[in-house]
Amino acid sequence: MGNYDYLIIGNSAGAVGCIEGLRSIDKTGSIWLVSEESNHVYSRALIPYYLAGKITIDKMFYRPAEFYDRAGVTLITGQKAEALDPEKQEVVLTGGERLGYGKLLLATGGKPIYPPIAGLDKQNIFSFHSFKDLLGIEKKLASARHAVVLGGGVIGLMAAEVLKKKGLKVSVVELGGRVLAPVIDETGSMLVEKTFKNAGVDIYLNNTIQEVHGEESVEGVTLRDGTNIPCDLLIVGVGVIPRVELAESSGIEINRGIVVNKKMQTSAPNVYACGDCASNFNFVTGQAQPLPLWPNAYTGGRIAAFNMAGIEREYTVGTSMNAMHFFDLNLINAGLNVTGETTGDFRVLQKLDANKDIYLKFVLNNKGVIQGYILIGQINRAGIFLNLMRKKIDVRSFEQELLSGDFGYANLPDELRWQLLREDVILGVV
Ligand SMILES: Cc1cc2nc3c(=O)[nH]c(=O)nc-3n(C[C@H](O)[C@H](O)[C@H](O)COP(=O)(O)OP(=O)(O)OC[C@H]3O[C@@H](n4cnc5c(N)ncnc54)[C@H](O)[C@@H]3O)c2cc1C
Repeated sequence: MGNYDYLIIGNSAGAVGCIEGLRSIDKTGSIWLVSEESNHVYSRALIPYYLAGKITIDKMFYRPAEFYDRAGVTLITGQKAEALDPEKQEVVLTGGERLGYGKLLLATGGKPIYPPIAGLDKQNIFSFHSFKDLLGIEKKLASARHAVVLGGGVIGLMAAEVLKKKGLKVSVVELGGRVLAPVIDETGSMLVEKTFKNAGVDIYLNNTIQEVHGEESVEGVTLRDGTNIPCDLLIVGVGVIPRVELAESSGIEINRGIVVNKKMQTSAPNVYACGDCASNFNFVTGQAQPLPLWPNAYTGGRIAAFNMAGIEREYTVGTSMNAMHFFDLNLINAGLNVTGETTGDFRVLQKLDANKDIYLKFVLNNKGVIQGYILIGQINRAGIFLNLMRKKIDVRSFEQELLSGDFGYANLPDELRWQLLREDVILGVV
C-alpha cells in the first residue's frame, strides 16, 4: 500500500484539469492516477471526427505522450478502483492493492445507457463513447452496409451523420416524438430532422427496438411498430449516466450524480468530484445537476485542485451548452430550453426563417436576463450571448437586436459596451 498526497480516479478531462491545477500550485506533492482504460488520455468528443476521417489517431490524444512524466504523475492504467473507504482515506483496486490518499478526486465520468432490450450483447453492436467503441466501429466500417442508431439525441445523431457520410444506409430510432428533445425545442428539432431526411437518413420517431436479430452478430432489428430493418451495425446512443458506483457504495451523497458544492467537495471529507460523474452547480437554474460537457469537467477538475491544495476557489459559471454540427446545419444551445411562446415567468424572443434554416430563440426571465438560447444557422455570436447570460445583464433595452443575426458589442448601450469590453479584455475573452 502506498500513501499519496493526491489520488485521482479516472483519466479524462476532469483528471487533466486537476493535474494542471495541482501543479500550478503544488510542484512536489505526490499525485497518483488510476484509470480503468489503458489508453493515453483522449478526447471522446473527437470520436466522430476520427471516424469521419477528418483527423488522424494522434490528434485524438488530449495531451502529449510525456504529459504525465513531466507533471510527475504516477499512472496505474488498466485497473479499476473497486472500493473507497473515506474514513481510512483508502481506495482498493481490483487486484486488492490499497492506495491511501490525502485528497481524492473522483473523475469517473459517465457510462452509456443500455436499455433492457434482449440481444444487445451480439457482435457489431457498440456504444459511441470510448476508444474501444471507436476501434470496433472502425473495423466494422470496412464491410458494413446498413446501420441502425438507437437514440436521436446528441450522441446518436453524431453517430448517424458519420455513418451516413461513410456511405452506409442509416436509420435512427428515437423513443420520443422528436430528435434532440432534451436540448432544443420543437422548432429546432423540426429543422434538424429536415436536415437528416434531406441527407437520406431515415428517422423513426415514437419507436424503439423490440427485437434484435442475428446469431452471433446483429443482422437486423424489429421495431415496436413492427417495422423490420436489416442492419449489420447497431449503435446504442441513448444517453450517458453519471458513474457513481464507487462513491455510492462508500456512502457519499448522490443526487443523479455525485453531489458536490461549488468547491467540488463531496459529502465525505477530503473527497472531491468533477465532470460527468458529478452533479454540479448550474448558474442558470441555481441547482446542482449533471452537466456532461468537456469544459465543465476540465474546469471542475481545476477548481477541485485548488481546493485540494488548500486554496479556496469556487466553480460558479457552469451551465448546459451544446455546440453541434450536422451536415450543413450548425446549432448551439445554452442554459434553459423552454418550449413554446411563454412558460411561467419566462418570456421568449424568437425568429424563424425556415427557408434558410435559421432559427434564433432567447428565453428571458422577468428581470430581462437571458436564461437560455438556441441558435440555428447563425451561431457566431454565441459567446457574447453566454457572456450576457453569465453577467446577468438586463437586455430589455436592446432585446430586439438579439435577433438581428449580426448582433455584436456595437449594439450594446455605450456604458454597458465599455464595461463589458473592459472586463473581457482583462479576462482575455476578447
Ligand atoms: C461522442 C461524444 C462526443 C462528445 N462531444 C462533446 C462536445 O462536442 N463538447 C463537449 O463539451 N462535450 C462532448 N462530449 C462529452 C465529453 O466527452 C464529456 O463531458 C467528458 O469526457 C467528461 O470527462 P470526465 O473527465 O468527466 O470523464 P470521462 O471522459 O467519462 O472519463 C472517465 C474515465 O474514468 C474511468 N473510470 C470510471 N470509473 C473508474 C474506476 N472505478 N476506476 C478506474 N477508472 C474509472 C473511465 O473508464 C473513463 O476512462 C462528448 C462525448 C461523446 C461520447
